[in-house]
Amino acid sequence: MQPFSYAKVFSQAAAIATIQQEQNGEFIAGGTDLLGLMKDGVQVANILIDINSLPLGDIEFKTDVIRIGAICRLSDVALHPQIQKSYPVITQALLQSASPQLRNMATVGGNLLQRVRCGYFRDSVFPCNKRTPGGGCAAITGYNRMHAIFGASEHCIAVHPSDLAVALTILDAVICIQGAEKTRRISIHDFYILPGETPQKETLLQPGELIVAIEIPNLACKSHYLKIRDRASYEFALVSVAIALEIEEDTIKSARIAFGGVAPKPWRAWEVEEFLKGKAINTATFTAASELAIKQAKPQTHNEFKIELVKRALNRALSTSCG
Ligand code: SF4
Repeated sequence: MQPFSYAKVFSQAAAIATIQQEQNGEFIAGGTDLLGLMKDGVQVANILIDINSLPLGDIEFKTDVIRIGAICRLSDVALHPQIQKSYPVITQALLQSASPQLRNMATVGGNLLQRVRCGYFRDSVFPCNKRTPGGGCAAITGYNRMHAIFGASEHCIAVHPSDLAVALTILDAVICIQGAEKTRRISIHDFYILPGETPQKETLLQPGELIVAIEIPNLACKSHYLKIRDRASYEFALVSVAIALEIEEDTIKSARIAFGGVAPKPWRAWEVEEFLKGKAINTATFTAASELAIKQAKPQTHNEFKIELVKRALNRALSTSCG
């Protein structure tokens, strides 16, 4: 690991001012992803700016939104009684993320900004356009079982690893950002960027900006998170589904659905949601929705199995939510 300096800050203004003055500075809170990347030589920082003393650790319930501070620990969010009651999709997504020790340390902001788990990205021996733009992508011709079937480009096929981001996507969460000049609020749908020709850009966050909170509109619907992975804990998704349904008698009034583990950003299934509106709850509806979900899929050499997995995962998530 390259040497770096360390500064602890006690206000948002000081955090922003410090990172603006420094070259190659990074904010650190939990550090569960950043320190690993630095140890592996994949990410270099001259200074780490510790934001753990900032007042960004509260969960506030307002009339029309829930505001979760960016340095709230994943375990605190997952086990908050009102989150468990109103947004089971968040609790279920978080409790299937990482390990208990990591969840006690990792923060909401850090989770949303974690880097891809592509093995070639995390090993600097291999070419990677995300690490070194224009260097090539070892995954496209290499082993790509864990990679994308939606939204990839010829420059990068990595998937976004966050379970929480998938849950927040169906809830239309808003990312609240503080910069030197102004604050910004960006819908989670716009916050993540598809790789296109610039896979090194993953979000709309600008250098020197800090995520301060996530806001979630109050929604009254049943929600659920289903994660399919190679082992029962401490593993990233092969495919996951976040789902929230409004049901009236035997009919689906509205649906919100997003997939994880299959695309460079949480993959909202807008077309499937539209199809499900007003449909009767039965096997034929679930089967048709599942077929629609994979219509645009483009598998890589080693992950065609994800197509069947998406279909089965959605089918099961619908059955569970309607049951
Ligand atoms: Fe890098 Fe993306 Fe290719 Fe992985 S898939 S090697 S992250 S460019």
